[in-house]
Amino acid sequence: MKSDKILIIAAVIGIIIIAVETTFGLSSCEALGKDSAELEYPFEVLCPSCGAKMSPIPMANRVWPEFKEVFICITCGKYKADGVFYTRDEWDAWIEDRQGKRNEKIATLRIEKLKSYGWTDKRVKRILDGYIYIGDTPEIVREAWGEPEDINCTITAYGTREQWVYDLGCYVYFENGRVTAIQD
Ligand SMILES: [Zn+2]
Repeated sequence: MKSDKILIIAAVIGIIIIAVETTFGLSSCEALGKDSAELEYPFEVLCPSCGAKMSPIPMANRVWPEFKEVFICITCGKYKADGVFYTRDEWDAWIEDRQGKRNEKIATLRIEKLKSYGWTDKRVKRILDGYIYIGDTPEIVREAWGEPEDINCTITAYGTREQWVYDLGCYVYFENGRVTAIQD
């Protein structure tokens, strides 16, 4: 009776092993040892340089939204992104180029935003260069220097005075919405 049970259990385990081997095309031990990221890629991607198996980079498209999947060769440093192979240098060059294009786009959007205030090219340029002048409005100062750390406001008989505090001991003073003093 007891040996019958053992035989049945052994048979069931045998069937499971065969099923796993058939499903994954691997021995069951190998299949169980694979992590989930690798199981998503049942076909091996081999490095064209050294022939080693390339590893998928988990959630690569969070870092590089341009690509669905990215593999790396741990042995020689080649990349494969959506079917295209890159040497390490090509990959680095691509990243740099992409960053350059992003920075260009950010700069263009910033210039468009500054021009949308109706400011002249000359004013836009000096704002981009970080210069503020006596008589500037709070908008100009914000665009040139960014948001202050702190704003101290005083209401006097003559109007409103504001002291904008920037780090490293820089202050900008406004009276009635115009810069009256800059302490740099
Ligand atoms: Zn390789």
